Amino acid sequence: MVVSTCLVTGGAGFLGSHLCDALVARGHRVLCVDNLDTGSLVNIEHIRVPEFSHINCDITEPCFIDEPVDFVYHLASPASPIDYLRLPLHTLKVGSYGTHHALGLAKFKRARFLLASTSEVYGDPQVHPQKESYWGHVNPIGPRGVYDEAKRYGEAMTMAYHSQQGVDTAIARIFNTYGPRMRPHDGRAIPTFLRQALASRPITVYGDGSQTRSFCYVADLIRGLIGLAESGYHEPVNIGNPDEFTLLELAEAVKEATGSDSEIIFEALPVDDPKQRQPDIGLAREVLDWSPEVSLREGLHRTIEEAGVEALVG
Ligand code: UDP
Repeated sequence: MVVSTCLVTGGAGFLGSHLCDALVARGHRVLCVDNLDTGSLVNIEHIRVPEFSHINCDITEPCFIDEPVDFVYHLASPASPIDYLRLPLHTLKVGSYGTHHALGLAKFKRARFLLASTSEVYGDPQVHPQKESYWGHVNPIGPRGVYDEAKRYGEAMTMAYHSQQGVDTAIARIFNTYGPRMRPHDGRAIPTFLRQALASRPITVYGDGSQTRSFCYVADLIRGLIGLAESGYHEPVNIGNPDEFTLLELAEAVKEATGSDSEIIFEALPVDDPKQRQPDIGLAREVLDWSPEVSLREGLHRTIEEAGVEALVG
């Protein structure tokens, strides 16, 4: 294997830190760029090798790197609905200026660039499951618009750098992912349900719990991202687990995995909450020979075991 230098924006976040781990384990040099807005040094504290360094830099400003770079993985962004609602302008800026700077860096270094895009580009989808050819159904001025449109703009800019300037780019559309290092108060369904179940508190299902999501274990997701970065593919590719669950089914699965007898309570559904979501991963299977291996049940057990109850309860 050729050893590469990989720059990971958002490298101290949940997905970013797992990506740094995997790249270091493969023997690469890793430059983790993170301003620690929603990421944390705790996530990368264990990576103590000379091939790894953290650069405290906000990618919404230009970032100068004094060495060759082979891959730029652009993951930096608030990614949880409560974070992008709290930081709407910063979410728009990191998706626009941040992606511009990360692409500029990749162009200057002649690096392969991977944009971490999202299933949110499909909005509240009217086509099910979602294939990459679906254009989506997004409310640009709704509360989720700042994230969805920032990522859609990021995709447009990535394709423009590729087609107009010849930058070697890839776009991963990441579906709901979970695993150790998600913040207990990050607001997303799995860390919230685990925190509530482990503390024997009521599990808060929004709406009637009939909305669906498809949850991918982090190790599978990271394998997909690296596979895509190391392929020569340029068009967007869905990376996610196609096993689809209602939120009520998820709450039951969390109760079973934790052995909790928490009651399930129902709270108001957030505005523009997508009713269903399931990736069609035919393209990832075909071009990357990738598919997820970890079931929801196993992934929940692995999360509890690897993170530990204390970290999950927060
Ligand atoms: N959700 C819920 N209870 C919670 C947190 C989230 O029922 O305490 C629901 C939320 O309304 C959505 C689903 O879980 O329908 C997934 O939400 P999450 O924030 O994890 O991801 P996203 O909405 O971005 O897919």
